Amino acid sequence: MADVKKIAVLGGDGIGPEVVGEALKVLKKTEELFGYQFETEHGLFGGIAIDEKGTPLPQETLEICQKADAVLLGAVGGPKWDNNSKELRPETGLLGIRKALGLFSNIRPANVFDCLKEASTLKPEVLEGTDLIVVRELTGGIYFGEKFRRETANGEEAVDTCAYNVQEVERIVRQAFEIAQTRRKKLASVDKANVLETSRLWREVVNRIAPEYPDVELEHVLVDNCAMQLLRRPSSFDVIVTENMFGDILSDEAAMLTGSIGMLSSASLGEGSFGLYEPVHGSAPDIAGQGISNPIATILSVALMFRLTFGYHEAAQRIEDAVKSVLDAGHRTGDIAVDKSKAIGTSAMGDLIVAAMGN
Ligand code: NAD
Repeated sequence: MADVKKIAVLGGDGIGPEVVGEALKVLKKTEELFGYQFETEHGLFGGIAIDEKGTPLPQETLEICQKADAVLLGAVGGPKWDNNSKELRPETGLLGIRKALGLFSNIRPANVFDCLKEASTLKPEVLEGTDLIVVRELTGGIYFGEKFRRETANGEEAVDTCAYNVQEVERIVRQAFEIAQTRRKKLASVDKANVLETSRLWREVVNRIAPEYPDVELEHVLVDNCAMQLLRRPSSFDVIVTENMFGDILSDEAAMLTGSIGMLSSASLGEGSFGLYEPVHGSAPDIAGQGISNPIATILSVALMFRLTFGYHEAAQRIEDAVKSVLDAGHRTGDIAVDKSKAIGTSAMGDLIVAAMGN
């Protein structure tokens, strides 16, 4: 009997459930094509969970996730909950689920589809061949360090501290080396080692463990230089690994190379193969319920799940190729269409991708 993989499905709010619905069609198609077996269990999460259960992350939802091999998440949030107190905000559920599931890295691929090169603000020739992944440390660094204010002779002063320990650096760097091994075997470790002590420790750890991955070519890049090189030579990067704040900034910069938020997938990983997969975009309340959202980011999140959690590389490739062929054939949802009058809907896009996966 085939190995049954359990997937927790959290549609969330706004366009979340509709884009997740299309991703589930793709998942089902891979069962037919490759003989996989998936067991999906749905949970309430975000604003809808606040409405129905009084909390953005109900205990039963967390348990569904903890029993699963992977989580597929749509998006959460919307104006209805914007003025709620902190514990009754959908975004609090996002922080809570990452913490409860021990997710310490965020993975964001940025690959440029040839047929969408024109949608980017960069010149097509600069973008040619861009296919990179940013691996961002998610639970340490300055965002989580001690913060306080104090009075000084010159008035009020604010302090944010940045701390990293060896174990925190080691686990994320190993993850990045391992991801690089499944790709073009190049790793750029980004730091500010000329100025920051945390960066000097980061670089020491990277250099110490690099010999364990002799097949991966390593370069150290200072963060300011990396921000520049991402615009100058994006195609030369394969995997970029960096700490929390640098990764926050660089992953947004890298994302914009591709031109559209509706195309970007992401993963948050913990120890082992468990991961939470979601589109980078939010719940898009402005277009929710109209059936016009782009499901590609969520569909590509399934491909990422196949690669990073299940090791189903052939099926992942099939999904990515299907997306490419549908785009090459000229089909577009409204967010990526030049001629908006020819745009197709969410469900039509999902069906075309499923059909392009073949028989
Ligand atoms: P957003 O990503 O939801 O939308 C930004 C713009 O992009 C909108 O015009 C929207 O229509 C468009 N867009 C986004 N995804 C699209 C898609 N798949 N297809 C077509 N168009 C798409 O960001 P926002 O408007 O800043 O936030 C809306 C809500 O989502 C807020 O409540 C925010 O807190 C939440 N949010 C949630 C997550 C998450 O769940 N991880 C991430 C970001 C924002």
